[in-house]
Amino acid sequence: MSIAIALDGPAGAGKSSIAKRAAKALGYIYVDTGALYRTIGLAAMRAGVEPQPSAEVDSLLSRITVSLEFNEQGEQVVLLDGEDVSSLIRTPEASMMASKISAVPSVRAYLLDLQRDMAKTHNVIMDGRDIGTVVLPDAKIKIFLTASPEARAERRYKELVEKGTDTTFEEVLRDVKERDYNDSHRAIAPLKPAEDSILVDTTELDFEQSVEAIINVIKENR
Ligand code: C5P
Repeated sequence: MSIAIALDGPAGAGKSSIAKRAAKALGYIYVDTGALYRTIGLAAMRAGVEPQPSAEVDSLLSRITVSLEFNEQGEQVVLLDGEDVSSLIRTPEASMMASKISAVPSVRAYLLDLQRDMAKTHNVIMDGRDIGTVVLPDAKIKIFLTASPEARAERRYKELVEKGTDTTFEEVLRDVKERDYNDSHRAIAPLKPAEDSILVDTTELDFEQSVEAIINVIKENR
């Protein structure tokens, strides 16, 4: 039987970089489910489809194929109709589009099996918003990773500046808060800690301390 670890939490809590490192240290596969919503957001942007429940979104879903692969370094690659879109989905526009389109019930239903199949075949740390509550309710360990909005915006701002993106801290903080609001107020699969999840707050922790905290939680509970 494979082991599943559900890692949920708001945007910018450092889930992906922390989980990647923890997965490597423990020999698990890291699955970033946000990339799947981003890919559908990208497909909608390309097709000029509005991110709200509609026949257009459903028709788009019936035309596209989203799949996950892992490269030689064990890193996740996400494919849209066979095209590697792993970098294209990382823009602020794609983030906002993903946040909006992820509230569409048919989009969530479309991605459910793909996520569950990954956990059936591999030991995974799966990162998302509703992994412990909806996707893998029987996950062995559920972690809710969070940090204050300001700490999360500060980290994301630094990342964007390093990549050469032209933005301000205020803009990033506004985006973080808007996405938090969208993610936690949507009717379907809202962001909230599973009742049996373990809360890890990284506001006061640096990256290495956060990785250590996650690895310790996993080792103590698996
Ligand atoms: O984690 P990331 O920021 O890449 O996710 C992009 C968007 O996808 C989030 O704002 C969230 O709305 C949505 N998402 C989701 N459920 C997941 C993962 C991501 O609704 N399991």
